[in-house]
Amino acid sequence: MLPTAVSARAPGRVNLIGEHLDYNGGRSLPIAIDLATTATVTRSADGRTRCRSSAETPGWTAYVTGVLAALEVTEPLHVTITSDLPIGAGLSSSAALECSVALAVNDLLGLGRSRSELVQACVRAETEYVGVPTGGMDQTTSLYADAGAALLLDFADDSRTPVPFDPSDAGLTLLVIDTRVSHALVDGAYAARRADCESAAKHLGIQHLASATADQIEGLPGGRIGRRARHVFTEQARVRAYVDAVAADHWQTAGTLMTASHESLRDDYEVSCPELDLAAGTATALGALGARMTGGGFGGSAIALAPSDLLERIRNGVAAAFADNGHDAPTFYEVEASRGAEVLSAT
Ligand code: ADP
Ligand code: MG
Repeated sequence: MLPTAVSARAPGRVNLIGEHLDYNGGRSLPIAIDLATTATVTRSADGRTRCRSSAETPGWTAYVTGVLAALEVTEPLHVTITSDLPIGAGLSSSAALECSVALAVNDLLGLGRSRSELVQACVRAETEYVGVPTGGMDQTTSLYADAGAALLLDFADDSRTPVPFDPSDAGLTLLVIDTRVSHALVDGAYAARRADCESAAKHLGIQHLASATADQIEGLPGGRIGRRARHVFTEQARVRAYVDAVAADHWQTAGTLMTASHESLRDDYEVSCPELDLAAGTATALGALGARMTGGGFGGSAIALAPSDLLERIRNGVAAAFADNGHDAPTFYEVEASRGAEVLSAT
């Protein structure tokens, strides 16, 4: 017998390194975090689909109805959402919302979709129904992550490889600094970066810019397109080096790579902003092994890999630097590689 009520939980994520590589056929290395969204879904008794959330924002139900449409669900449902994820902080509350709904509905209605089909449905909900382009990293992480491991995602061949990630063994903590800013240029700038990368790949006659060789990158005309391509090339190399560093417990190297990633995103890809630069720069100056913006940029969150005994100093120092510069107070989260989405109850 099918259940009458299903609750499913789906986490947000932090990308450790490999930024803006998903749509370039490159690799990224996200972890799921222990902040999540829970969807409780029941069949509707009144013939109408209703959505409620503890954090309603204009237009939010499109994420839910988009998932239902992508799963070809026509039966009216009641969907209730709770979450402890900050919204719009670059920790992917949108994917957490989609994935929690998709998993709950799949179970409630016995749709029998695989996790990979649920990822596809959630990506379609966001790109086609909400209208926000997304490369699939967030949904894949939310639905596939395991505790204690990052996921090495390869967007050229769609493979997923778990990479054990536990800096606490080395006395380190991954600190998220939510700048609480979201700059209005995000969507247009994202589309412009994609277009730049497509024109570089076209110029080189290759499908994915991330597969370009060093010679090809050097042969590109200078200027903006050349800088964008250089970020993609160097970031792809940093992902490889980061995976090796983590496997060898070379945490200082991992930190240095994170800082280099930030500089590349700031200078070559030009997707940072003063608040992200201040968060990453202050954290590093106060003893973090490295820090970088994470997510699309222009606001959202930075991450710092820091000795656990320096966390308080870093938090206080970043907060003070934000105050000195007239920015709103940032929010901090200590995160670790956490489990992916799961059905919590079916009754
Ligand atoms: P991020 O994914 O980084 O948090 P996005 O802009 O991609 O930021 O997604 C945020 C949007 O997702 C919100 O504006 C809202 O429409 C929707 N959303 C996310 N979580 C919730 C929630 N718990 N309740 C209602 N809407 C949500
Ligand atoms: Mg999002």
